[in-house]
Amino acid sequence: MQWNDEAQKEIEKVPAFVRGMAKKAVEKAVKKDGRNEVSVEDVRKGRDKYISFAEKKAGDEGKQRIAIVRCETVSEVCPGIACFKAFNNRRLAFAGYDKDAEIIGFFTCGGCSGRRVSRLVDKLLKYNLTAVHLSSCMMLEDDYPRCPHLAEIKNSIESKGIKVVEGTHH
Ligand code: SF4
Repeated sequence: MQWNDEAQKEIEKVPAFVRGMAKKAVEKAVKKDGRNEVSVEDVRKGRDKYISFAEKKAGDEGKQRIAIVRCETVSEVCPGIACFKAFNNRRLAFAGYDKDAEIIGFFTCGGCSGRRVSRLVDKLLKYNLTAVHLSSCMMLEDDYPRCPHLAEIKNSIESKGIKVVEGTHH
């Protein structure tokens, strides 16, 4: 496959970490078109279609992505406002996160003994989950008892290599 000079210059603008993938995607599209020379338009089209996503994803590396697990029983009386408020203001258990951190999951344990947690954490692994917070309602002895399954839930998450933080808004 030939690359004309302009196309060559254009592909050099693609960050090095995705350039190999970008070249392959562009060449595949050109070949499919029945041609054997890549033009600058081909590179631009490929960039919009296949590459910008990868660039964005690579640029996102290092971003902190958090999930919050909370008590199924308590969820019947709590919409989660205190957890979100603490996160949005980067306070209490979220004080260490920078402004780019994001919540990518917020779900209940599924009821005693927390059967849903492992499956849902698995689903988030491919989205670069970095930490799971166990909500304060699971920790505190208040209107509801402290979760008796904390250790098992925590172990099931940590066994996947994900950091567990105990608490959200206390
Ligand atoms: S396992 Fe713990 S967090 Fe889940 S419903 Fe039971 S007490 Fe609540």
